[in-house]
Amino acid sequence: MSVPPSTTLSDLFPQDLQHLIGENQPLNESLWLGIGGPARFLAEPVEIDQISRLLNAAHENELAVRILGHGSNVLVREAGFDGLVISLGGPATNHLEISGNRLKAGAGVKLTHAAIKTVGEGLGGLEHLVGIPGSVGGAVVGNASAEGRDIGSVVHSIDVLDELGSAKTISAEEAGFSHRKSTLDGLVILSVEFELEPKDVTALTKRMQKLWIHRGQHRPSDTSRIVMPFIDPDSMSTRELISSTGLSGLREGDVSLDISAPQYLVAHENATSDQCLRLIERVREQVLLQSGVDLRLNLQIW
Ligand SMILES: Cc1cc2nc3c(=O)[nH]c(=O)nc-3n(C[C@H](O)[C@H](O)[C@H](O)COP(=O)(O)OP(=O)(O)OC[C@H]3O[C@@H](n4cnc5c(N)ncnc54)[C@H](O)[C@@H]3O)c2cc1C
Repeated sequence: MSVPPSTTLSDLFPQDLQHLIGENQPLNESLWLGIGGPARFLAEPVEIDQISRLLNAAHENELAVRILGHGSNVLVREAGFDGLVISLGGPATNHLEISGNRLKAGAGVKLTHAAIKTVGEGLGGLEHLVGIPGSVGGAVVGNASAEGRDIGSVVHSIDVLDELGSAKTISAEEAGFSHRKSTLDGLVILSVEFELEPKDVTALTKRMQKLWIHRGQHRPSDTSRIVMPFIDPDSMSTRELISSTGLSGLREGDVSLDISAPQYLVAHENATSDQCLRLIERVREQVLLQSGVDLRLNLQIW
């Protein structure tokens, strides 16, 4: 869905929402890859009610909507996104509350902060996700995982808005978590309640620190402009799969797979989104040809 180019912000959104929205705003600064075109409209809501009304206005005007967390898993095409991007990194979704064995985390909270908070309170279940970039919302919608355990396994319930901006709470079962997937697409996650397990703080801290160091050491060190485009197929690591097919370091223009950690795609100085897309296609084709594995894309393409 897109609206005619002549349509302006004031044609689409109520006056008291217009101060939250910028027109033709760059997205690259909000993305780990640091590339890609602008958003036709970019909203930075600071209250939940504003998110709901933005969704409602977009729906009424048949304007396509995308939700942006911390941008570690999104590639925006050169042409940009012709619709409304709602950024959820702001104060509306940035709360962390512990009650008993439960943590309620706003969708915009950094996943690492949620892990650190729970470890400090002696609650286990999120510590293995420390150091994975991104927000709680982004992690839950994509069922982020590490060390063989996914985030969905500790979700109790999720507060969401639907495309009309109506609020509801859904259970972990309704969220349909499976390997690096959920059925939450199309919903806006506002906050997530996690059910955790009481554990010894010292042991949890040690485990978390060990994993954190390990994760940092196994990332490309010379750039922060990286993404992990593929999902590890069941019982196999993308890293091994790509290495064994001889594709480590493969380059397309100014984009390459890292040499020692080829599960990462690295955007160099003059990288473009088209180059990223071409490299991803080449890798998928070669891996399929040589190993018979059809790599599933993790990266969201806008
Ligand atoms: C260096 C690196 C290492 C990584 N390691 C891992 C790993 O070990 N395990 C793993 O699982 N992943 C890993 N990832 C992938 C990435 O970190 C996760 O997918 C992360 O959870 C995405 O969160 P985000 O806030 O950055 O989402 P974004 O990149 O902002 O968005 C990703 C998708 O989620 C949607 N989304 C975001 N927030 C919301 C919301 N509140 N409501 C609805 N939809 C939303 C977006 O619309 C988009 O479709 C890694 C990525 C990088 C760059």
